Amino acid sequence: MNKNRLMKRMTALFCAIALTGTGMHTVIRADEEKPQEETVTETAAEEAGEENELLYADDVNGFVTRLYEVCLGRKPDKTGYMDWINWLKSGKVSAAGAVQGFMLSNEMKAKNYSISDWVEICYKAIMDRKSDAPGKKTWVDCLTNGVSQNFVLKGFVGSSEFAGLCAKYGVVKGDITLTERRDQNYGLTSFVGRLYNKGLGRTPDANGINNWCDLLILKKRTPKQVATSGFFHSQEFLKKNLNNTEFVKVMYRTFLGREYDVPGLNDWVSSLNSGTSRDSVMAGFADSKEFQKIISDSGWEAVSNKELAPLFNNVNSILLVANKQHKLPNNYEPSDMRQPNVSARMSTPMRDEAATALEQMFAAARAEGVYLVAGSGFRSQSYQATLYNNYVARSGKAAADTYSARPGYSEHQTGLAMDISDRSGATYLSQSFENTSEGKWLKNNAWKYGFIMRYPKTKQSVTGYMYEPWHFRYVGKDYAAAIWSCGPETTFEEYFNVAGGESYN
Ligand SMILES: [Zn+2]
Repeated sequence: MNKNRLMKRMTALFCAIALTGTGMHTVIRADEEKPQEETVTETAAEEAGEENELLYADDVNGFVTRLYEVCLGRKPDKTGYMDWINWLKSGKVSAAGAVQGFMLSNEMKAKNYSISDWVEICYKAIMDRKSDAPGKKTWVDCLTNGVSQNFVLKGFVGSSEFAGLCAKYGVVKGDITLTERRDQNYGLTSFVGRLYNKGLGRTPDANGINNWCDLLILKKRTPKQVATSGFFHSQEFLKKNLNNTEFVKVMYRTFLGREYDVPGLNDWVSSLNSGTSRDSVMAGFADSKEFQKIISDSGWEAVSNKELAPLFNNVNSILLVANKQHKLPNNYEPSDMRQPNVSARMSTPMRDEAATALEQMFAAARAEGVYLVAGSGFRSQSYQATLYNNYVARSGKAAADTYSARPGYSEHQTGLAMDISDRSGATYLSQSFENTSEGKWLKNNAWKYGFIMRYPKTKQSVTGYMYEPWHFRYVGKDYAAAIWSCGPETTFEEYFNVAGGESYN
């Protein structure tokens, strides 16, 4: 076997897989577009019927010949045939990998099978039988909702039928690894898939749905944001000019994944007809118990936290957590700090990215006649020790703990927080700052610039600190907007489901 040729073919094989992985919409057409006479039963699968099966030798050669005939509907070409046999024998490719190679090949792609026909071939090739109706519907739904073909192949190669087939031909079964975001959480993917299918009226494209799933899984968007700003506010959706009835039907089908009930439909439509905005109706669906349950059943929180957990203790991350359950590394000091170019009570640096966002926020406020002044940004661990000890001396440890962090636990040490004042400074570090125009503006607008009010009213038991309407924490625009979309009092701890509270670890 020529080694160079082998490598070339391997590369071609994996390129083909990679290409089909990101271009599923070109591989599979919607069922309705398929002319009736093009059914697969008249092509590959039928020709590879059971009577032919007997012709395959019970060895690797037979396994490969069978894949050629069942998947591609043809006899093997000599070069390809020898390659597959060598790869399988040497262990370079498992049986699952071979199935993947055939089912996602350019030759297969060129046949333009419908979703339904492609799934039927999966049954024949991998489980060695015709489909059963409920099983087939499940897989067709999966693909229609936007998962990759690999996701389906992985399900098939995990079957006992495939294990039996591999044993019969003496090939190593192996498995398929899923790498795309859309294959990570089917509940979330199918929600996004419904927004495409039932909202925009088109099948999801791989890049698009991967992108939305990425934003959801990294918690940069909430499901509600994806639906509203991502889809229903899009030009593509607005151009459909749906009437109120059709609009409400779309809400049922996308958010709730079901058809409308007539009384419910009538309620929403009459509410729209009497002047309720479409945004309020969207919010009604997004905030409904039924939709919340769909999202929590998908495991959205759990998936997201699994992805994000490493960032909460990573000093380079803008999601670095400092609270009573999360101590910073001893004497940690960010290396990328600078003085923000804003009016300030004193020299008080922040990490560069946060400083830039702070500058934008202060400028935007000023354009609206609101004059913000930076109070206190980064504090070193030793300075925090001085502050904390003074507070303890003044009001006792228990009281001091409600408003001042022990050294090593202060968010100010992250370089991502800023205490903000008005020009007079009269309400600086006082809860009455909430009544100033500066306090009100910050509360309602900080999220647009990537900041959250870190210690909201009524959340002392969650954050560990009393209400601080002056303390803002940079988390980046995506996260700030996502947190804000869950309600103005939503805390970092609640949104990211990280440990917090009033007692120290
Ligand atoms: Zn503060």
